[in-house]
Amino acid sequence: MRTESNIWQHKAPADCSWYWKKLHSLKGLMESWYQNREYTLTPNGAYSMTKSYNMLLGEQVRMQESGSVWTTMMQPKHLFIIWLANQDRLLTKKRLLRIKIPVANGSCSLCDQGRLETQAHLFAECSWITAPRNGVSIWLGIQLQEKGIRESLHWIQRRNWKQVQKEMVAAVWGAMIYHTWQARNWRIFRNITINREFTIAKIQQEVKIRLDSMRNTCRARKCQYLFTWI
Ligand SMILES: [Zn+2]
Repeated sequence: MRTESNIWQHKAPADCSWYWKKLHSLKGLMESWYQNREYTLTPNGAYSMTKSYNMLLGEQVRMQESGSVWTTMMQPKHLFIIWLANQDRLLTKKRLLRIKIPVANGSCSLCDQGRLETQAHLFAECSWITAPRNGVSIWLGIQLQEKGIRESLHWIQRRNWKQVQKEMVAAVWGAMIYHTWQARNWRIFRNITINREFTIAKIQQEVKIRLDSMRNTCRARKCQYLFTWI
C-alpha cells in the first residue's frame, strides 16, 4: 500500500488483517455511489457525510418492541446492550467465527459445559443465568422466561399487564442481560468469575437507583404502587 498512490486500485493482500479486508470490501459499495464522477446520493451531487454513513450502515432493524423497552425506565447502558443483542450483533464467539476472526475456544466461558457460545445459549440456555433469572423473578414476583432476546421482548410485550409494569419487567430483564454479558466479558478478558448472588444484588441496586432518580415522575410513582419492594 505504501508504494501505491491510488487506494481505489489497491488490492487487499490475502494475509492482511480482517478489518483491512473489511474496509477494502466497502470500496465496491462506495464506488457505486458515483456515476461519471458525480456523487449520486444527493440530488445536487454535493457530497453528504450523513447520506454516505447511512448507506454504509445499511437498512437498520427497527425494534418492534420499543413500546416496552425504549423507555427511561431502563439504564442507557442496558438499553445499548439489548439494542445490539436484538440485532444479533454482540460479539459472541459464534459471531466472531462467522466473521472469520480466530477464536481459540468457542465454548461458553460461563458454564464450562462445552456448548458453543451463542446469544441463545448465554441468555436462555446457559446454567449460569438460571440463578440470576430465578433471583430477580422472586424479587419481581414474576417468573422471567427461559427465552432468547426477541422472544423475551415479545413475551413481555404480550402480557396482559399495565404498560408501566411491562416497562419495569423489561428494565429488570435488561439489567440481567447486561450483567450476564459483563460476567462473560470479565471471565474471558480478566479471568474473574463473578458471583451470581453479587449479580442479583447489582441488578436490584441499579434498578432501584434508576427509579430513585425518577422519584418525582408520574411513571415512578405508578411503579411504587405496582411493586411494593421498591
Ligand atoms: Zn454456558
